[in-house]
Amino acid sequence: MYYGFDVGGTKIEFGAFDQSLKRVATERVPTPGHDYDLLIDQLAQLVLKYDEQFDAKGMVGIGIPGVEDVNTQTVLTVNVPCANQRTLRLDLEARIDRRVALENDANCFALSEAWDDELKDMPSVMGLILGTGFGGGLIFSGKVFSGFNHVAGELGHTRLPVDAWLLLREHAPLLDCGCGKTGCLDSYLSGRGFELLYAHFAGTEREAIDIVDDYYKGEQFALSFVDIFIEMVAMCFANLFTAHDPHIVALGGGLSNFSLLYEELPKRIPKYLLPVAKCPRIIKAKHGDSGGVRGAAFLNII
Ligand SMILES: [Zn+2]
Repeated sequence: MYYGFDVGGTKIEFGAFDQSLKRVATERVPTPGHDYDLLIDQLAQLVLKYDEQFDAKGMVGIGIPGVEDVNTQTVLTVNVPCANQRTLRLDLEARIDRRVALENDANCFALSEAWDDELKDMPSVMGLILGTGFGGGLIFSGKVFSGFNHVAGELGHTRLPVDAWLLLREHAPLLDCGCGKTGCLDSYLSGRGFELLYAHFAGTEREAIDIVDDYYKGEQFALSFVDIFIEMVAMCFANLFTAHDPHIVALGGGLSNFSLLYEELPKRIPKYLLPVAKCPRIIKAKHGDSGGVRGAAFLNII
């Protein structure tokens, strides 16, 4: 059995998957955001409950919005305050007497897509989340590639390429990022970035869903804004594709519902790639909200 936990700021989702990777149990509990002992208790109790139910010793993976420090093995997370700077993985391992895998939730999202029936034989899969922020995960041969510092796939903290900066023209906004730097893709390619850039150019605020709505109604400003935004996305994605050359790319997050991306990006990206490179297929993620828990569970697939 494979057990996955998607530990979010407000809720923890648990999922159990059998050997054929079919989901056989689901449970959700609120995240005890400020009580670390209770968090460990809840995770351990769920593991032991389902061990008993399935008469098995399930393999456990955790997806969390954060990164485990390679040296101290403590978790750096803003969204789950009680787990911040704590050795979450090691403490749970001690409680349930088995190895626990832990990865950031964007890597889990990408891994979940990579183990989709259609994609599982792909040599590499890049998952990109265009949600509140922008993040990603890199999967090679069905496994997360987390790198030397566990920050591989933190594509949201690479910077806006110079051609995108020029596209935004004079007085382009240099947006601050939560990581302390400026100009990170996280601030531009996200749903939040879509709204911030719109507000910057339009001089008035509008929600992403309304901007998209205006676009489909043929409203002139929305048409030209969306055109520039998608060109910027194409430039940024092309940089990521040149660096990682993924075989397929799955998009998640709220902005991934904007179907125009799947029509326009494959047409616009090639001119920013090396002449020998083709644009990989870009698809909408299939597993959506359950991606985190699926990916966490699949961290233990050998
Ligand atoms: Zn950043």
